[in-house]
Amino acid sequence: MTPRYAMVVDTRRCVACKACVLACKAENQVPDGFCRDWLVEEVRGRFPNLSAENRSERCNHCGHPPCVSACPTGASHVAEGGVVLVTHHKCTGCKACIAACPYDSRYVHPEGHVDKCTFCLHRVQEGRQPACVEVCPTECLHFGDLSDPDSEVSRLLATRTWKVLHPETGCEPNVYFLK
Ligand code: SF4
Ligand code: SF4
Ligand code: SF4
Repeated sequence: MTPRYAMVVDTRRCVACKACVLACKAENQVPDGFCRDWLVEEVRGRFPNLSAENRSERCNHCGHPPCVSACPTGASHVAEGGVVLVTHHKCTGCKACIAACPYDSRYVHPEGHVDKCTFCLHRVQEGRQPACVEVCPTECLHFGDLSDPDSEVSRLLATRTWKVLHPETGCEPNVYFLK
C-alpha cells in the first residue's frame, strides 16, 4: 500500500527544550536566522485558571497543499508518502507558495530558493527516523505511516484525542497534536 507519512506530537510530554529545533538545523544545514521547525509555547485562560501547551511545529505536509497548486514552476510537489518537497533548482524564489501556505511553514533560503521541513525524507528512505524525532529526550515526537493500521502513529491517533492546526483551511494537515 502507498505510505502516508505523518507526525504525531504528544504536547503533554514536551518540556520545551528545543532540541528538535537544534537537531533539525544541524541535520539540514538550516542557515542562521531561519528554521524548519519551531516551538510554540501557548498559555490559555486567566489567572489562576491557566493551562499551557508546548507544540513543536513544522510544515504539515498537507493532503491538499495550496503551496503546491500555487507554485508556477512545479518546484513544490508531493513526493513519496505524501511528503511535500521543494526541488531547489526549479524554484525561482517567487514566494507564491509562501503566500499560499496558511501555516507560515516556508522561508526563502539565502541561496534564493524556498526551503521548509522535508519530514527528513532522506533519512526515512534509509529506514531512519527524522532528526527531530530521534533527538527528542521525552519521546513526544512520533513519525510513521498512517496507511498501516498497526503503526505507532495509527495506534496513537486511534487511542488518544488529537487535533490538527486550523482544520478550517481544508488543507488536511498530516501533523497531529495529542491533547
Ligand atoms: Fe519538546 Fe521534544 Fe522538541 Fe524538546 S525536543 S522541545 S521535548 S518536542
Ligand atoms: Fe504547504 Fe504550508 Fe501545508 Fe506545508 S503546511 S504542505 S508548506 S501549505
Ligand atoms: Fe526538521 Fe526533519 Fe524534523 Fe522536518 S522532520 S522538522 S526537516 S528534523
